Amino acid sequence: MFEISVEETFAAGHALRGYRGKCENPHGHNYRVRVHLRGDGLDNIGLLYDFRDLKHHLRALIERFDHQFLNDLEDFRQINPSAENIAKRFYDGLKDHLAATPSVRLEAVTVFETDTTAATYSEPAAAGARSSR
Ligand SMILES: [Zn+2]
Repeated sequence: MFEISVEETFAAGHALRGYRGKCENPHGHNYRVRVHLRGDGLDNIGLLYDFRDLKHHLRALIERFDHQFLNDLEDFRQINPSAENIAKRFYDGLKDHLAATPSVRLEAVTVFETDTTAATYSEPAAAGARSSR
């Protein structure tokens, strides 16, 4: 099994609705997003997946969030723009991009709000198979 990861950063503001404390007030983060892919097979030049392509997909998603107030975006009108929910948004978006490459599996997406705080979203490996039974 091979695993690769890439990271990109973006800056955005948010406010956590319903949170009792400072984080209910508008504030900003320099977010860091780390994406992990897994797979068994390498291509004919020894790559699991091209880092450049993975970064390209990630940047396309970041473009929607960068320098925005996340609460104002359609993605976060109903749900809070918590690191957890942001990680799931990236996961869902990347899953669509990677659907055409069945040799790799999107393992996890981690969103860092600071150097020491992060949230990770992943799905069980058999989630698709289970739901089709
Ligand atoms: Zn925050």
